Amino acid sequence: MSIPISTPTPTQTAEQTPSTFASFDLHSRVAAGVTAAGYTKPTPIQQEAIPVVLSGRDLLGLAQTGTGKTAAFVLPMLHGLIDGPRGRVRALVVAPTRELAEQIHQDIRTLGQGTKLRSATVYGGVGMNPQAQALRGGAEIIVACPGRLLDHLERGTGTLRDVDMLVLDEADQMFDMGFLPAVRAIVKRVPDGAQRLLFSATMPSDVRALAEAVLRDPVRVEIGRAAPADTISHALYPVARQQKTELLKHLLRRADTRSALVFTRTKHGAKRLAEQLDRDNFFVASLQGNLSQNKRQKALDGFRSGDVHVLVATDIAARGIDVSRVSHVINYDVPTTAEAYTHRIGRTGRAERSGEALTFVTADDTKAVGTIERALGRLERVTLDSFVYEKETASGEATRSQRHPRPRPQNGGRGAASPKPQQGGSNRGGRAQTGSRAPRRSGRSGERSK
Ligand code: AMP
Repeated sequence: MSIPISTPTPTQTAEQTPSTFASFDLHSRVAAGVTAAGYTKPTPIQQEAIPVVLSGRDLLGLAQTGTGKTAAFVLPMLHGLIDGPRGRVRALVVAPTRELAEQIHQDIRTLGQGTKLRSATVYGGVGMNPQAQALRGGAEIIVACPGRLLDHLERGTGTLRDVDMLVLDEADQMFDMGFLPAVRAIVKRVPDGAQRLLFSATMPSDVRALAEAVLRDPVRVEIGRAAPADTISHALYPVARQQKTELLKHLLRRADTRSALVFTRTKHGAKRLAEQLDRDNFFVASLQGNLSQNKRQKALDGFRSGDVHVLVATDIAARGIDVSRVSHVINYDVPTTAEAYTHRIGRTGRAERSGEALTFVTADDTKAVGTIERALGRLERVTLDSFVYEKETASGEATRSQRHPRPRPQNGGRGAASPKPQQGGSNRGGRAQTGSRAPRRSGRSGERSK
């Protein structure tokens, strides 16, 4: 079954749409927000989507993260709301994770700072009452995760009867997380006449079915189909399983690794790796689903401000992280799908900044690497002269390539790293490190305890 979709009319194509924000003729107070955000020209998704949304049409946006898609719906949303009634919820954005919801909310605050429109977030893990107040008209815009929002709607502590615009963001991730039934239940409570926008980086059949059910005669805009931004350089780093942490530390000590987001497969793995790095005095925090909302926010704020240099995260927790300065994304564990790979590395190289994406691969990862390379093309394999590699036997046990490895001539290999700290917990902070990005103990990660 195919979705009835109009592609943009000739006047809406990227080549022919105006390439300045001024030509969208946004309300002056919304335009002031664009200036405040420091945006000088629209990104391709903004060029295509903003005129469509301003025209009132439904929209299907196929765009990966990092393309500027949030402003593509926030700007016309603010424009549409600014002259209307206040004190009721008129726009609803549904997003898969708290982090993404917070990020969208912050973008609304930045872009809408001159509009006096109020935005509020609704998600689990924090109190219901302030959210109920926002839903009762304390805000004109609600950015919500599906589960908690549905909770409010079912308890009667919120209504969507005044919603004029509905945005479903990162629909493929909502599907992956099992939220589609909740999303459908939410959509049922939105008035028929509301404008609907759906964004997704990929179009699995369930998301296509959702789009068919929700959107009416949508205009489809597609930007950079699930391909990573071309400001990112990619490479695979073959390594024996038991040497991954050592290689990670080696890479983190390099001068150009300013701000690294490290992905692990499991929550437990993220917690444990962050603890190991913390013991080696890196400024590190972990971001995973077992943490309280407070701790998640603290970790993110620290990473954003630059106090935390290394954030170890799981896929779900990292969804929506928008830290423009992430210099490296390191896949400590290989993602198992090309989509997950794209989403992870979309955390670097954002908004035309350049970034590096490094993926550790072990003998166990052949299948996952094959999947990623089939979708994205062959990736370069990198081995470092400055690192002493061990070989992995078929049984997974390691053998040293040299029984007593000597550091290679380049200093900056094992010689550059600090001696392995004596485990025992005391005397942290006292170890000097060499290199321009000498790791130090953060004292801020706050994630050492559960
Ligand atoms: P998004 O895809 O919405 O997550 O946006 C990715 C990043 O691009 C965010 O840091 C935005 O603030 C930034 N951004 C969005 N639009 C523009 C623009 N027109 N010019 C420069 N940066 C932008």
